[in-house]
Amino acid sequence: MKTKIYLFIALLTAPLVLFASAINSLETDPPNRKFKVVLDAGHGGKDPGYTHAGVNEKDVALKVMLAIGKKLEQHSDIEVLYTRKSDVFIELADRAKVANKADADLFVSIHCNGFHKEQANGNETWVLGLRRSTENLDVVMKENSVILLEDNYEENYNGFDPNDPSSYATSVLTQEINMEDSIDLAAQIQNNFASKVRRTNRGVKQNVFLVLRETYMPSVLVELGFITNNSERKYLTSGDGQQSVAESIYDGIMSYKQNRDINISDVSDGSSSTSAVAVDPIPSNSSAVYKVQIAASSKSLAPKSNNFKKLPSISKEKEGDIYRYFTGETSSLKKASELREQAISKGYKTAFIVIIENGTRRRL
Ligand SMILES: [Zn+2]
Repeated sequence: MKTKIYLFIALLTAPLVLFASAINSLETDPPNRKFKVVLDAGHGGKDPGYTHAGVNEKDVALKVMLAIGKKLEQHSDIEVLYTRKSDVFIELADRAKVANKADADLFVSIHCNGFHKEQANGNETWVLGLRRSTENLDVVMKENSVILLEDNYEENYNGFDPNDPSSYATSVLTQEINMEDSIDLAAQIQNNFASKVRRTNRGVKQNVFLVLRETYMPSVLVELGFITNNSERKYLTSGDGQQSVAESIYDGIMSYKQNRDINISDVSDGSSSTSAVAVDPIPSNSSAVYKVQIAASSKSLAPKSNNFKKLPSISKEKEGDIYRYFTGETSSLKKASELREQAISKGYKTAFIVIIENGTRRRL
């Protein structure tokens, strides 16, 4: 009987122990954790994407994505995850779920464009738009209309109708926080396209792509080129062409990662003369409270850990039209530095420490 009671108690407390260890691992999340990239080849299975002259968008996207993955996998500090590695249909929301579940650092979706006129050509990289834009709606509608092939899409996307322009007035939730990083990556990719691929550079663009709206981390959608354009289709179906576009995207991801690593080392090296902490020392007996600002946004989000990549003790302040979001609250500057490091490692690359003293807040 006694054994049974012990077993019962053990079963009851096991989840608590697991929960406690999860919290503990969160707090001690090593800054040198692997950089996780989710690669997403658009379409697949019953959804071919654009098709022209026997070429399917889904096949080109898959080949290029696998080539990017192969190069990324050569780095021991990078973990690559794939939403699909073969010709299968995946719902848009499930693609984002792969990235969210893995707490990935980047989400990169690969597509090809198409147009009813042969002349249209060039490559472009999309980030999620903040405001309604009626420009380029044809591309966005086409990519989003994939959800019409999904079951229960009305429920899954909160009534979003991919063919109704007014649906695009709905704005953005968590992605706004990642906007700067998403644009940074998009710009790196387009710069590489301009120098290596040397086709028309259509630039970095913004609009409401559903697959980007659902992810919690910096995310981009790359349109490699138009398969309705004869020379571009030949290029994108050739080994050389696929290798060049894959290398451009790979180099873009690596540049993005390098910038991010530099930011992290700024914080971890407290002795550095460039460190904000070192140039503005605070007396240790100060009654000051430190927090780490992780984001400023016009969007009001609930100050919950789950909305901010599970960072601890989220608080929120309104200033004019802008909401500021913070993690942590501590009287220890050292602890604040650690919190900032943790925030950066979770993707809040521009996180900084603020000091709150005598009712005023200032940046360190
Ligand atoms: Zn597509």
